[in-house]
Amino acid sequence: MGKIVVIGSANTDLVVKTDRMPSPGETILGGSFMMSGGGKGANQAVAASRLGGEVTFVARVGNDLFGERALAGYRAERLDVRHVTRDATVPSGVALICVDGAAENSIVVAPGANERLSPEDVDRAEAEIAAADFVVLQLEIPLPAVMRAAEVAERHGVRVILNPAPAAAIPDELLRRCYLLTPNRGECAMLTGMPVADAAGAERAADALLARGVRHVVVTLGSEGALVKGAESCERVAARRVEAVDTTGAGDTFNGALAVALSEGRPLSEAVRFATAASAIAVTRMGAQSAVPMREEVDALLA
Ligand code: ATP
Repeated sequence: MGKIVVIGSANTDLVVKTDRMPSPGETILGGSFMMSGGGKGANQAVAASRLGGEVTFVARVGNDLFGERALAGYRAERLDVRHVTRDATVPSGVALICVDGAAENSIVVAPGANERLSPEDVDRAEAEIAAADFVVLQLEIPLPAVMRAAEVAERHGVRVILNPAPAAAIPDELLRRCYLLTPNRGECAMLTGMPVADAAGAERAADALLARGVRHVVVTLGSEGALVKGAESCERVAARRVEAVDTTGAGDTFNGALAVALSEGRPLSEAVRFATAASAIAVTRMGAQSAVPMREEVDALLA
């Protein structure tokens, strides 16, 4: 079993299905409502655990009902939650999500306790980081905590996967400490200032990121799959043809799956195929964490 430490956000997703998104100032009647675990950090931690990793999650939740429910959920998913801090001074993070008839989503996040995840929280998990095969990071927590995590991982020779979501500027000092960067199309364009309309654009942008010091880049392209780029390699991996009902968390399942496959010693392109299969299953289901498949389902799809 690969050992993975995920350091990131923990939210509760409040999801409403609607035929269409409301316009500014408009109230519309939606369809079904669902509450589920969310936050890119938690989603990726749960994905890595369901897909076969041994996962430690480092996060902050509030001392409220959402935080309590989230913690119980993580325990049920077999996450090591010793480094999930309950912060009595702020509410837990929540995300308000609308999913329309075309399976597109529109999301507002109130970060709450996630904004207080600190470098000291990361330091407290140093022993787990040192013992890990991979550390997985995103950008829904303060940058100093992300930077510290990459620093501690480097000190112990542990490889870092950075999913640069939501899109934000990243210092080169952080990029240089990353084994793998996994932007989606928009994040890749934002990070490089280059158009990423197609695979050729993604390749040029990935090269620009490699030049800034990251060792490998996987650009995810939604239903068009992913581009896998190293200094001397470039490969397109097609997405699987499925009927998508909700793409929320596709990227999170993809990143959790990548970490698991890499921690099992698979080469990057094979790990991307595993992640592509896992995320294809996820988009056929509603929700983020609730949509993540079990390992057996992915293995069956790849058999
Ligand atoms: P999200 O923000 O919705 O979680 P993302 O924008 O981070 O996702 P995407 O590039 O949309 O990430 O998707 C990640 C991966 O999920 C893709 O590389 C692809 O393998 C898979 N995927 C996404 N959408 C589809 C789809 N409609 N059909 C099949 N696979 C999909």
